Amino acid sequence: MIKAGAEQSRTFEDTDRQVDIVALGIVTAAILLFVATGAAIGPAVVRSLAGQGPGPDRFLVNAFVLNIAIIIFGWSRYRELCAEIRQRKAAEQHARHLAETDPLTGFLNRRSYHRAVEDMVRQAAMRDRTVVLAMIDLDNFKQVNDRNGHDTGDRLLQECARRISGCLPHGALISRIGGDEFSVALEFDRDRVERVDRIAASLVEAIGQSAAQNSAGADVTASIGLARSDIAFSGVARSDGATERSDAGALLEMADIAMYHAKRQGRNSFYWFETPMADEMRSRNDLERGIRQGIAMGEFVPFYERQVDLQTGELTGFEMLARWNSPRFGVVAPDIFIPVAEEIGAIAELSEGLIARALQDALEWDARLTLSVNISPVQMRDPWFAQKLLKLLLEAAFPPHRLEIEITESCLHQNIAQVRSLIDSLKNQGIKVCLDDFGTGFSSLAMLRSLPFDRIKIDRSFVSNLAGNKDSAAIVHAIALLGQGLDLPVTAEGIENAEVLSHLRQYGPIKGQGYLYGRPRPAEQLAEWLPGVVIVADPETVNDLAILRRRIEARRHEEQALAAQASQDPQFRLAREGI
Ligand code: C2E
Ligand code: CA
Ligand code: CA
Repeated sequence: MIKAGAEQSRTFEDTDRQVDIVALGIVTAAILLFVATGAAIGPAVVRSLAGQGPGPDRFLVNAFVLNIAIIIFGWSRYRELCAEIRQRKAAEQHARHLAETDPLTGFLNRRSYHRAVEDMVRQAAMRDRTVVLAMIDLDNFKQVNDRNGHDTGDRLLQECARRISGCLPHGALISRIGGDEFSVALEFDRDRVERVDRIAASLVEAIGQSAAQNSAGADVTASIGLARSDIAFSGVARSDGATERSDAGALLEMADIAMYHAKRQGRNSFYWFETPMADEMRSRNDLERGIRQGIAMGEFVPFYERQVDLQTGELTGFEMLARWNSPRFGVVAPDIFIPVAEEIGAIAELSEGLIARALQDALEWDARLTLSVNISPVQMRDPWFAQKLLKLLLEAAFPPHRLEIEITESCLHQNIAQVRSLIDSLKNQGIKVCLDDFGTGFSSLAMLRSLPFDRIKIDRSFVSNLAGNKDSAAIVHAIALLGQGLDLPVTAEGIENAEVLSHLRQYGPIKGQGYLYGRPRPAEQLAEWLPGVVIVADPETVNDLAILRRRIEARRHEEQALAAQASQDPQFRLAREGI
């Protein structure tokens, strides 16, 4: 099924043939000479034995014997040479196999696949046929690796590889392009596109099943992009069409674009490449570039939304919500740029810059007001996140008890031990931790009890339509009761009108936020709000910077004392180092 390096192997075979022809030539020449001398000596020997003449010429006899020796020696050398060639060929083949294939699946690697696709496209064009190339990307594979470890991830990849092979006809090329990305290419008759559709559908189904059988605990499916070689394409990056690209390069890029389209359309499906998809991709590239530049230029700014005590209407703090003041796109909402920043690995830098600015802004407010910030699941996976936050707090000299970190319920899908340890270290620093968007995810009551949250926020999808929707009203009421039962304060977000507010007030002492109290605003505009606003004093949010400093100071003293003791008492040092 896998065609690899046909050209290279042809060159090796040619050299081998040259070598064995020379050896065989020598042996053949010796045999011919043997026959010739034999023919000359034979009659003389017979005549001499019959006593009818002298014996054979001594020179010819010597030549004859030498000939026999050459034949024996040449033949054994020829055999040795053949064995040597066979061994070398096997070693070369093994080396070539290693260089051209992916060790985990045995499929072609990216480089050799590229070459093989080029060959396939050329040959298909000569036969008036078309090549289809499919880019297959596993959805949620990263979660399997993160949750279950790399061994499980590798096993799942191998199982997917088996399933992919099982769906393909003879002659197809298969490659593992990298990580959790596979690609296949096959020739087809351009009037029989439905055959390719059937194969793509069976790939989607087979991969979905293989993941389910692996019980890897995550919803691993496949997103597939298809591209055909009879469509001309100059590439996204080179929209000017200045340079020609190879057939395989264009096919891979088209299939990649279609695969991303499949991801955006909800994954677990396949799409054929269409030209407008390339435009989508171009704008996505623009967005990525804009975000990277925007971070460097300080275009991301914090906006603030009021949080109030619903019973009294008094202000308790603000939630920071990111906005992008883009010179090109205008003011962009976080729903657009946060997922992209997460994907391109820029979220930590973006978020830390925003938090640093927000801490400075919040220092200008009344010291009783809290600041809530949203944290991406990507940041939660960073083992240094708590340290980074502590550094920001210290640099700004901001009291940790005034800061609240909002993590969304979807974070709880991740490695729960990691989430717990992060929450613990944040809380040890005095920072509060709040569970955001509660009700939209799957967190169980047991999980809610086992993780030490300081607050839960009812998702705005339940709150906004509370007045007209009995189900939403029941859910909000239940969550408010749950909060009371677990002794967890509750915030309702998305309060848009007085009717919703009056409903919420019946549910006991909860906090709230929403457009009824004002839209999120930049720091400069808060100055108009703040004077004259009644602030409720939260006993927990006293200025506790001094407490933090004292705690850090005490830890340093303790370390110094231990170090001093260790230097004076070797036994103490050994005991401390666990020896
Ligand atoms: P969220 O944390 O649930 O934030 C509340 C969202 O609801 C905000 O949208 C806010 O403007 C909007 N909202 C508030 N009150 C109302 C209301 O009464 N009605 C309606 N219809 N909407 C209301 P925004 O600012 O567009 O933020 C969207 C999401 O983006 C946030 O949802 C949060 O998950 C995320 N986000 C915002 N800033 C950051 C950030 O700095 N880092 C990270 N990782 N995520 C952020
Ligand atoms: Ca939030
Ligand atoms: Ca929310």
